[in-house]
Amino acid sequence: MSGFRRYDWQAASGVLHGIRIGQYRPCPHDEPPALCGAEIVLTREDFRRDTRTRMCTACLDRWNAELSAS
Ligand SMILES: [Zn+2]
Repeated sequence: MSGFRRYDWQAASGVLHGIRIGQYRPCPHDEPPALCGAEIVLTREDFRRDTRTRMCTACLDRWNAELSAS
């Protein structure tokens, strides 16, 4: 499970994208690199708790592929 926390899920434009973490803490106006390659810019809205936010399917696919490869 050591590689499991390399990514975290961050809301951006209404979907949850997988982003690389580490020491990194996302903030509004950041442009974190999404797993799916989408160019995302975080806004204050993205940091509200919203349990109905969908996960980005492209990010999920790549995340699952990395998990099964490790
Ligand atoms: Zn994505």
